[in-house]
Amino acid sequence: MARIYEKAYFGDKIVPIADAHLSVASSSVLYGLSVYTVFQVSVTKNGLMAFRLLLHYRRLINSARIIGMDTFEKEWNYEKFVGAVKELVSANTPIEDVFVRATVHVPDLVAGTRSRGLSNTVSMFIYEAKPIVPQDGARLKTSVWRRVPDFSIPSRAKVNGAYVNSVLGKQDAIDSGYDDCIFLDVHGHVCELSAANIFMVRDNVLITPDTTSDLLEGINRRTVLEVARDMGIQVQERGIDLTELYVADEIFASGTSAFIAPIKEVDARMIGDGKIGPITKRIKEIHWRVMHGEEEKYLDFLTSV
Ligand code: PMP
Repeated sequence: MARIYEKAYFGDKIVPIADAHLSVASSSVLYGLSVYTVFQVSVTKNGLMAFRLLLHYRRLINSARIIGMDTFEKEWNYEKFVGAVKELVSANTPIEDVFVRATVHVPDLVAGTRSRGLSNTVSMFIYEAKPIVPQDGARLKTSVWRRVPDFSIPSRAKVNGAYVNSVLGKQDAIDSGYDDCIFLDVHGHVCELSAANIFMVRDNVLITPDTTSDLLEGINRRTVLEVARDMGIQVQERGIDLTELYVADEIFASGTSAFIAPIKEVDARMIGDGKIGPITKRIKEIHWRVMHGEEEKYLDFLTSV
């Protein structure tokens, strides 16, 4: 388990993480009614930098909007959000790359199965930036559980309760001796991993499922697409069949806590020659450089915290 830093942001102030409590009778606990995001804060030559903070804030707002948690947007503008992140970071002064988990909870007690007009409590805490999938060639298994469709619990909304679907998929993979799962949608098309997006390379084209494929609109997914286009790599967003993965030249996963994770095996089939492919290698290297402020062109992806 990851090491968690001592000070958290909770409500409107910094508190010891042990004092950041929600009631067992809150909608957050009863129904998983919270939306969240996780972003990296990196140690760079210009100090601590948060990665694509505005996109994370916007996705949080959009998640709350989809679910109908309407008070967050009224009470939290971007400036307030950045201010809270800065307070949290300076209270903990990390000297290593870390992840920040920012969550909007519904703290109302026994409020019933509804979302609109309820109050919100924001929590943020910092933990060590440990990858959730191996970085030297992960092994994936198609999940026996399908991704929750947009018409049931939208994957576009990063809502805590929906992550039971991810837990089922990931645990099934671990139980079968794999590192993570690949979720398919109800029609059998590829969606994503338990907590990361997926890319494949076929004939030098970089391909990822389009955003109507029951997936989280990952901020690293978007970053990979932008950077790859700039590198002159041809990219496609489209539906992907499972068997296309079996015959792909390269596969990798992207995500805040997956970084860029090369995939060496899917359902007992070796991908390519089982080693990190050339496009994956280039993307992984530039992704690290962009996150750490070492690519002049993408310095505006970073916010000093
Ligand atoms: N899909 C799911 C289900 C996730 O939980 C995550 C992690 N937030 C991702 C994709 C990757 O998103 P991001 O690049 O914004 O971290």
